[in-house]
Formats: sequence, C-alpha cells, structure tokens
Amino acid sequence: MDTTHSPFLTGALTWLGNGTVPDRCDVCGHEWTMESGEAVDAIAVSAERCAAILADRDGMAAAADGGWNATAYVWHLTDLANSWSERWVQLSHDPGSPLAGWDPDGLAAARNYRNLPTLPALWAFERATTTFVDLSREIDHATPFEHGDWGPGTVADGLCWLAHEYVHHQLDVDARAR
Ligand SMILES: [Zn+2]
Repeated sequence: MDTTHSPFLTGALTWLGNGTVPDRCDVCGHEWTMESGEAVDAIAVSAERCAAILADRDGMAAAADGGWNATAYVWHLTDLANSWSERWVQLSHDPGSPLAGWDPDGLAAARNYRNLPTLPALWAFERATTTFVDLSREIDHATPFEHGDWGPGTVADGLCWLAHEYVHHQLDVDARAR
C-alpha cells in the first residue's frame, strides 16, 4: 500500500479495489502515481479515441454481461467531465470546498444511458471533455477539496482518478462495441 496517497485517493482506490489499495490497475495498467499534467493529456486525447472506436461500429449493442453498452460508457464519462468541471469552477472560487458525491448507477438509470444514441453521446463527450481539459489547465493542481465520500484531496488527485476513468473506460467502449 502506498501511504503517500491522500485520503481521497486512498478512499477511491479502496472502493475500486474492493477494500485493497493497488499500485496500478491490473486491467488498464494506469499508475496511481501519475503526474497530474500527464493525466490531463491522457484525458485530452480520449474523445477523439472514443469517436474513432465507434466510427463504424454499433455502440448500442447489448453487452454480453448485461452491463452497460459501449455508448453508455461514453455518457458516463461525459457526466463525469461535467460534474468535475463544475467542481473545478467552485474550487477556483473557493479552495477547500466540499464536493458532493453522486451515484453513477443512479444517474445512468435516471438518464436511461442504455437507450441513448451514440451520435449525441460523442458530441456531448467532446464538448464536456474540452471544457474539463481547459479548466484543468487553468486551475492550480495543488488546490484542496473535501470529497463527500472519500475525504480531503487535491485537484492533482482528482485528475489522476479521472485519467483512470477515461483510460479504463476506453477499453470498455472498445470491448463492447460490435
Ligand atoms: Zn484501469
């Protein structure tokens, strides 16, 4: 266990690892010590990559495991980008602000991700990601926050967490598109 992680990142990784804190993701290879500028770069190229993956494939085909289809993951990343953009706007104004947590599965059900089409998903994703990347290049990465579920962290921690969401879910998009 890397004890240098903030409470936020430790909480996030414990949630992801079902109680353990991994050094890197076994599936996508993301390193939890990734530098925050590198994390922003990884996020920045994601919209183009997802668009390329879904260019000539069906993103709405039902997933074999009964989980989200490929396009649903694009909607999830879009909602993550929007949510964290809103958080960066608040933190730019008031560092240390509390960040309210939200339930991704509850949001997916409320928005009906599985039946939302791919074209607007890619449109919304590109816009949301561009906005998030722009804000992430402006804000001081040492800015602190207080996450509702996982406790204190910094913008750098949030970016490392988000970069994993982006990189990992690109694999999900690729695996589930037909
Ligand atoms: Zn991963």
